[in-house]
Amino acid sequence: MVYNYKIMNNRTMINIQASEAESYSRETFHCGNCEQDFEANVITWVDVSRTPQAKRMVLRWDFNIIQCTQCGCRHFSGTPFFFEDFEDGLLIAVFPRIPENRGQIEKTIKEKYGYYPVLEFFYDMTQIWTYLYFQEHYRANKNLRALSRIGKDEKRVRTFLRFLKEDPLMIDIREKLTESFFGDATDDELVELLGQAVYTVEGMLPWPRDRRCMCGGDLAKEFKCCGERITLDEHEHLLSRYYVIYCPYCEESLAGASCEYCGRVFTWKLGTVDSYGSARAQETRDSPAPHEIQADPKTGSA
Ligand SMILES: [Zn+2]
Ligand SMILES: [Zn+2]
Ligand SMILES: [Zn+2]
Repeated sequence: MVYNYKIMNNRTMINIQASEAESYSRETFHCGNCEQDFEANVITWVDVSRTPQAKRMVLRWDFNIIQCTQCGCRHFSGTPFFFEDFEDGLLIAVFPRIPENRGQIEKTIKEKYGYYPVLEFFYDMTQIWTYLYFQEHYRANKNLRALSRIGKDEKRVRTFLRFLKEDPLMIDIREKLTESFFGDATDDELVELLGQAVYTVEGMLPWPRDRRCMCGGDLAKEFKCCGERITLDEHEHLLSRYYVIYCPYCEESLAGASCEYCGRVFTWKLGTVDSYGSARAQETRDSPAPHEIQADPKTGSA
């Protein structure tokens, strides 16, 4: 993609009215294809709780794509924008590229918008893309919500943000998103990686093939959907990162189970292990579990 990127305009970024659902700015860009200047509208503020189409545009990589009026070439504007989710009390200043005067810009924005419960800075479009993917994924997946241990609303948002800013998996996601955008990676590979991201955010553990939690709890007991227990037997030997079990009643996907005693959550989406038998033995020595622990037939340890 050839484009001449326009450094953000401090004035535009800071003088926008927070009361609008969407704000635009008309700016001049230089087309790297035909070497002509052209004008285009770019979004500089968007409240996604009131303009859900903006969410879809970000997820399709259509957000702030501008078209040269001379040659028709499409470019990513690279213009910074504010992303607001009023319902979640969230404001994110998104800089598709790191600006030179980053410290000063952050300070000014904090002074002006510090009243938002959550104020964040992103310096990469992958972060906003992944944030929206997480939001949509939790919204659409009731079994994930049932397994989730990271809380709701603002608490969940903060957990997402920590992952987006700190987790090394974000490097892989950035790479895979670029590859799939240019057709060099399949969507399956991307979905698989995003699945891993979700289970990492949740602090889940790889699935024990003996179905026993570290505390000794029976995971098969809590393997349920639609209020019904779903049998694991026919799936047992197939469980792997790539395997999905569908609920026979509602056809939603299931990827793991939580322990009814200690609340730990396990998923085969992070791979499988034979058993947590040795960890269990350790735990028993440290603090006796409140219920009977059965010997593990594979390792012989209790
Ligand atoms: Zn052009
Ligand atoms: Zn179901
Ligand atoms: Zn447990």
